[in-house]
Amino acid sequence: MKTLNKRVLVTGGAGFLGSHLCERLLEQGCDVLCVDNFYTATKDNIRHLLGHPHFELMRHDVTFPLYVEVDEIYNLACPASPIHYQSDPVQTTKTSVHGAINMLGLAKRTGARIFQASTSEVYGDPEVHPQDEGYWGRVNPIGPRACYDEGKRCAETLFFDYHRQHGLRVKVARIFNTYGPRMHPDDGRVVSNFIIQALRNEPITLYGDGSQSRAFCYVDDMIEGIVKLMESPDQVTGPINLGNPVEFSMRELAECVRELTGSNAPLIERPLPVDDPRQRRPDISLARELLSWEPRVQLVEGLRRTVEYFEALLRRGLA
Ligand code: NAD
Ligand code: UDP
Ligand code: UDP
Repeated sequence: MKTLNKRVLVTGGAGFLGSHLCERLLEQGCDVLCVDNFYTATKDNIRHLLGHPHFELMRHDVTFPLYVEVDEIYNLACPASPIHYQSDPVQTTKTSVHGAINMLGLAKRTGARIFQASTSEVYGDPEVHPQDEGYWGRVNPIGPRACYDEGKRCAETLFFDYHRQHGLRVKVARIFNTYGPRMHPDDGRVVSNFIIQALRNEPITLYGDGSQSRAFCYVDDMIEGIVKLMESPDQVTGPINLGNPVEFSMRELAECVRELTGSNAPLIERPLPVDDPRQRRPDISLARELLSWEPRVQLVEGLRRTVEYFEALLRRGLA
């Protein structure tokens, strides 16, 4: 029997981005099936959705087949922070590759549109700056980041082969560093690390000399871009960069967090992780042109909202 609402599957739906996406889809009146094996998340991010009549949660690992009936699939399942994805690198590759095969098989059987959360990491440590979608990247295939980078690259390959070979309607976004409420407090990403360290007045850990750069996108802007891509015409397959094109060095980020929190925490230098990209900034011309999308939330405003979230977690003893 056909339901009136669009049936949408979100893999990794209990994670940072996934939980915001589930919320957004429920607001739009979709029936949301959130699939997650709780590898990096807990139910906390989606606890407030559990009683919602159009929300369903399934504990499942996407490396195993999944037979459900849906109209759209957002494939976000994958640990995203270096600490998490390097703690079990074989599982990380399996999640990206076997997970993509299973979700593409599901899309093939059901005729669902399918979105893939790819990453700026497919560009590796880039020689082209800013990075546009035509750049093929510079990834070390055997380094400690390879399980994530190459897993995501292979997932992209699979998406475009299923598109060409089986006519699947695919949507691939290359997501650049995104931050905001519901980031894991202990996943080691730079924004959460710096904010928690500043709020605790503990030393702020700059890896290397802090001159490496990133460009940070606030989560609400990212979710808007992801949904716009899914809703775009079928010929818009991507890959398409989604991110905020304003670039900062890690030292500038640390100073900004210190100022916002009014913290006196000192900066200390720590060794730069192996294969850490020197610079990263998206060229979002394609997203501007095809999706009429660009980020709206400036770093200071987004950080302010994220600081409020972590302050509340610390008050409740949860971070
Ligand atoms: P996250 O770790 O908060 O969320 C990932 C979710 O996937 C978690 O809930 C985790 O439990 C789940 N998961 C992991 N392996 C799974 C498996 N085998 N089966 C089912 N569920 C599984 O990370 P996030 O920041 O929300 O990232 C979401 C997606 O976006 C990821 O695919 C990530 O690679 C991609 N991405 C994120 C960023 C970013 O800056 N946040 C940047 C680029 C790409
Ligand atoms: N698959 C799934 N759900 C479905 C359909 C397929 O999880 O509804 C998985 C199944 O395990 C399969 C994979 O997706 O191995 C790829 O499916 P495809 O039809 O491309 O290949 P095949 O079934 O021929 O291996
Ligand atoms: N970083 C840092 N201090 C930290 C955590 C990270 O200086 O406590 C640096 C890290 O070396 C990298 C940048 O911040 O250059 C972004 O790191 P993150 O892990 O957030 O994302 P990614 O490296 O995947 O872009």
